Amino acid sequence: MPQDSPQNGLLNPFELSADDGYTWLKGNLHSHTTNSDGKPSPQERVDGYVGQGYDFLCVSDHYKITRTDTVTCPDDFVLVQGAELHPHNPFGGQTHHFLAFNIREDMDTPKMPPQHVINQVNEQGGNIWLAHPHWSSVNIMRDTLPLKGLAGIEVFNSTCRRASRGEGSIHWDDWMSLENKLYPALGNDDSHALDADNRDTYQGWTWARVKERTPEAIMDALVKGAGYSSNGPEIRNIELKRVDDRSDGKRIIEATIESSEAQRYAAISETYGGDYYLQGETFERATFRLRPNARWVRFEIIGPDGSKAWSNPLDLTLFD
Ligand SMILES: [Zn+2]
Ligand SMILES: [Zn+2]
Repeated sequence: MPQDSPQNGLLNPFELSADDGYTWLKGNLHSHTTNSDGKPSPQERVDGYVGQGYDFLCVSDHYKITRTDTVTCPDDFVLVQGAELHPHNPFGGQTHHFLAFNIREDMDTPKMPPQHVINQVNEQGGNIWLAHPHWSSVNIMRDTLPLKGLAGIEVFNSTCRRASRGEGSIHWDDWMSLENKLYPALGNDDSHALDADNRDTYQGWTWARVKERTPEAIMDALVKGAGYSSNGPEIRNIELKRVDDRSDGKRIIEATIESSEAQRYAAISETYGGDYYLQGETFERATFRLRPNARWVRFEIIGPDGSKAWSNPLDLTLFD
C-alpha cells in the first residue's frame, strides 16, 4: 500500500469549543420496532430513549424506512430517519448489513447490488455505514474493499455482544490499513427487545459534537469524525502534541487523554500498538508517547469494569 498520508483527516471533536457553540449529544442510531423484527412499536422505542436521557435516535428497521413523522417526541429530541439495508453480497460473504441515515426513498435492496444501494443513499443526500462486521462474518478484503462510498463502521453493537461478536475494531483497523483512509465509527444498541427484557437497550451509544440539534448536523458531525463511541467510559479530552527529541529524526507525538475513571488507555495505529496503564490503579488523565512515525491513531479508553470508549482515528501526518 502507498505510504503517503491518509486520504481524509477527520476532525478532533475535543478541539471544537463550547465557546464556539459546540455541545455533546448522545444517541443511538440502530434500533428495531414492530415495523421489522423488534418487539416495541416505533412510539414505544422512541419513548424509551427519550426517557433514558438520550438526545437522538434512529429507528432503523430492516429494509424499510420508519418515517419520523409517524412518531412524536419532545422538541429538543432529534429523530434521524433511516433504515438497515440488506443488499445481496456478490463477493462471497454473508448478505450485507448497512445502516443508512437521512434518506427519504425506500429501495428494493435485496434485488440491488451493494454498490447501487450505496450510490442511491449518497445521491439522496444520506450516508451509509457498515454495521456489526464481526457478527456478520465480514471479511473486509473480500466483502467491503470492492465497495466505494461507505461513510464508516459500527464499532460496537449491544445485541451482537450477546453473541460475543459485538466489537468491530479489528475490521475497522483492517479497513483503514487496506485503504489507507480514515473512517469514523458508531456505537449502537441495535435494540430489538423491550426495555423490560434488559437485553439490548441502553448499552452502547455515540456522542456527536454539534452546534445544532438537527439530523443533518448530527450526521455531518459523525461523518467527519466529530464524535466517539462508548459502552461505558466518557472521553473528556484528547490532545496531541509533537515533541521530537530523538537524534534519529523520527517524528514523535505525545498524547494527553482525559476521561472518566480508566484502567487503561490503548493507542492503536497502523504500526505497532502502544498503551498506558498503572499497575493495579485507575486514573482519569495520562500523557504518553505514540509510536514513532505512526500515520494515524485511535484511542480505546477501558473502564474499571472492562467497558470501553472508542475515539475516532486522528491523522498524525498533519504533524509532519
Ligand atoms: Zn444487522
Ligand atoms: Zn439491526
